[in-house]
Amino acid sequence: MIPFEYRRADDVATAVDTVARNPAASFLGGGTNLVDHLKLGVTTPEHLVDVTRLPLDDITATADGGLHIGATARNSDTAAHPDVRARYPVLAEALLSGASGQLRNLATVGGNLLQRTRCPYFQDVTTPCNKREPGSGCSALEGYQRYHAILGASRHCIATHPSDMAVAMVALDATVHVHGPDGARRVPAAELHRLPGDEPDRDTVLEHGELITAVELPPLPFAANSAYRKVRDRASYAFALVSVAAAVDLDGDGTVRDARIAFGGLAHKPWRARRAEDALRGGPATDERVARAADVELADAEPLEGNGFKVPMARGALTATVRRLAEGRG
Ligand code: SF4
Repeated sequence: MIPFEYRRADDVATAVDTVARNPAASFLGGGTNLVDHLKLGVTTPEHLVDVTRLPLDDITATADGGLHIGATARNSDTAAHPDVRARYPVLAEALLSGASGQLRNLATVGGNLLQRTRCPYFQDVTTPCNKREPGSGCSALEGYQRYHAILGASRHCIATHPSDMAVAMVALDATVHVHGPDGARRVPAAELHRLPGDEPDRDTVLEHGELITAVELPPLPFAANSAYRKVRDRASYAFALVSVAAAVDLDGDGTVRDARIAFGGLAHKPWRARRAEDALRGGPATDERVARAADVELADAEPLEGNGFKVPMARGALTATVRRLAEGRG
């Protein structure tokens, strides 16, 4: 362990200023990912600013009928909140599928969004990894690829984003509230995370010193008919091979009026499936139509030698999820 300075922040402005002024400073949320990285030597900050005591843990209805979720709300509290469970069940299910109960009690909404890939080479400092050490190479290109990307990857990095919660938020058209040295701004959740390109060390569009303060879910009445499905190697405490977040609006005869779909486990970011949504609208939610919609979305997939199974797995996960919603969630 490398020595570092620790300070607990009392207000957002001081926290942002402290981190922004020092390139070797980081925010500390629940620590369920960052503390692992400190122990492994993946990151070596000089200064940690603990933001967990900031008054940002409120979950409240917004004036337009949406939901405001403070960045330091714990994952367990968010998953259990009555409005989340009733109006955005896809988010509750995604949170409950991620990690153990103990971790959910510590992990925050802001930290969950900013957790880093679980690519084994990223976490192993004895191996080359462009995300951890730019320019050093990508060990996964010729290595273990079971959990890696089939969409949007580059020759510099084929990692996937590990968050379940973020996939649900992207499907729900959430907006991320950010406070930085230049003031506040809002970022659509779908645009928060980046594809790797030639800068795989940058996971998000946030600049150093920008702090996530909240996430806002827009009013979306048919989000009450939403669900999250996670396919993984074990029944719990495992990251997604493939996951699907979906909300479907059906009329009385079963025609899809509208849909929101995002995939996890397929790319360096939660993958909003707008082409699949377009393909689903205007017809019945039959397995055949849903499978075709998945194929439209996955037409540009480039499976690797070690993860070709993800294409049929994603098709099957979307089909099963929409079937569940068409039958009334169950
Ligand atoms: Fe590193 Fe990305 Fe390659 Fe994994 S896939 S070794 S995170 S560069």
